[in-house]
Amino acid sequence: GFNCGIVGLPNVGKSTLFNALTKSGIDAENFPFCTIEPNVGIVPMPDPRLDALSAIVKPQKVLPTTMEFVDIAGLVAGASRGEGLGNKFLANIRETQAIAHVVRCFDNDNVIHVSNEVDPRADIETINIELALADLDTVEKAQQRLARAVKGGDKDAAATKAVLDRVHPHLAEGQPLRSAGLDDDEKNQVKSFGFLTLKPTMYIANVNEDGFDDNPYLDVVNAIAAEEGAVVVPVCNQIEAEIAELDDEERAMFLAEMGMAEPGLDRVIRAGYALLGLQTYFTAGVKEVRAWTVREGATAPEAAGVIHSDFQKGFIRAEVVAYDDFISLNGEQGAKDAGKWRLEGKDYIVKDGDVIHFRFNV
Ligand code: GDP
Repeated sequence: GFNCGIVGLPNVGKSTLFNALTKSGIDAENFPFCTIEPNVGIVPMPDPRLDALSAIVKPQKVLPTTMEFVDIAGLVAGASRGEGLGNKFLANIRETQAIAHVVRCFDNDNVIHVSNEVDPRADIETINIELALADLDTVEKAQQRLARAVKGGDKDAAATKAVLDRVHPHLAEGQPLRSAGLDDDEKNQVKSFGFLTLKPTMYIANVNEDGFDDNPYLDVVNAIAAEEGAVVVPVCNQIEAEIAELDDEERAMFLAEMGMAEPGLDRVIRAGYALLGLQTYFTAGVKEVRAWTVREGATAPEAAGVIHSDFQKGFIRAEVVAYDDFISLNGEQGAKDAGKWRLEGKDYIVKDGDVIHFRFNV
């Protein structure tokens, strides 16, 4: 599955966010194939299009697509030198595909800040330095290994080592690889190292209820993110935790009272999805209307493979109706009558919202 690791200093609101994300979660019974570890939450992608499709198809079951969030607690200054449970946490981050970096942007005298002062810039630097130093360690080990291969005349190794040699000083200064100006070729060259500071990253600015406007802490996070070209999602984790406890009706009332169109969590989940370059396609049968996740640019057989590897292996054709056509023409038959039902082959690039039925050989 696709996942996003939640990192940040202690006491910034990571667990509060994680708990809110998992409480608002789905019935685990619908996803029996997922083993859920305590620090892994499977979170449904909020998608109003599922309701619109269901209104037409009237299925027995509706299943959203999901994303995993991983709570990576315990990242502290010195983690890259093995302080705290440093190495374990860094290994956890390495397994995630994207990073949600929670930054404390709220004052609360009852909640101790690790360095006794709310200072988003210093906090972000502390975490980024640990991640950069962990990558530096990876680079130095690889440099030694590659140096031997280069002596043996390995050209590939020489090219890879050249990239590592170039980024070494950047990391040594505590700067993330994101800002080292690597081009696509160079990124490919170092892909297998799984560098932490190359992972797509967003900042979750954890603000107080009244902290969305005129909040100097939030301004700082926005400024840093702008320098890095990163996304910021301001959210009040405390309120989200409360919203997550409510049933549907209470939630709707609470959101209306707060003047919110949707829970802030939905913005977090969507931002994570976008960060990973993901998109959704649908299957819409009377048994089940379901959303599925594929990477942007995925072909029809790749999309089929998300359902089952046999669908990919035996792929013949995809019957496709664009989402807007499906809705405006009131379903598959209407789309067929209007000439909007297409048969696509193995090179078809799936578009966000496509309603697809796969034909395949078993
Ligand atoms: P973690 O160590 O990063 O996982 O932090 P926690 O989620 O355990 O939060 C630390 C403390 O901050 C808890 O007492 C939370 O109730 C409190 N907290 C979290 N988010 C907010 C917030 O948005 N506003 C305020 N005032 N307190 C918060």
